[in-house]
Formats: sequence, structure tokens, C-alpha cells
Amino acid sequence: MIRLTTENTQKAIERCKQLKPTVRFIQDRVFAVASANNSNVYHVRFDVRNGEKLGQCECKASERGLVCYHIVAGATANIYRQGLKLAK
Ligand SMILES: [Zn+2]
Repeated sequence: MIRLTTENTQKAIERCKQLKPTVRFIQDRVFAVASANNSNVYHVRFDVRNGEKLGQCECKASERGLVCYHIVAGATANIYRQGLKLAK
């Protein structure tokens, strides 16, 4: 999994804002993000270890250790969901 930091997510955040991919909730910390360029759907997973946020996607960029916009899109949805949980 890739450790998510402010630095390595910056570019992906910009991409995500431009492309606005569709995110679907699958299960806790797992999301399906539709590609903006083709009909692919990538599953994105998240974890937290020792207070560090980790993320992983199925796409080529993520395989190379890069934070892709799918991860950012999923992370945004994940944070939103965690927020809802806390509010209950
Ligand atoms: Zn990806």
C-alpha cells in the first residue's frame, strides 16, 4: 500500500477536481472508482496503520507506487463516511 501524504497526493487532488470521477461504496474502506478516460472501474482500498493513512488502487499508476486520482476520490468518500459514523 502507498502511504498518503500531503505532498504525494497534491497532483492527484488536482486531477480529481478536474475529472470528478464517480465513486461507489463497496464495503468499509473499499470503494469502486470509475475511470474518467474509459469504462474501467478501479477498486481502491484504505487502511490506517500507526496513524498513517494508506491507500491502494488497481490501476497502473498505483502499481508503480504513485498516488492516482482514484485513491484521492475514494479517500474523499472514505473521510466523508467516517465523518458520518462519528456524527452518530
Ligand atoms: Zn488508480
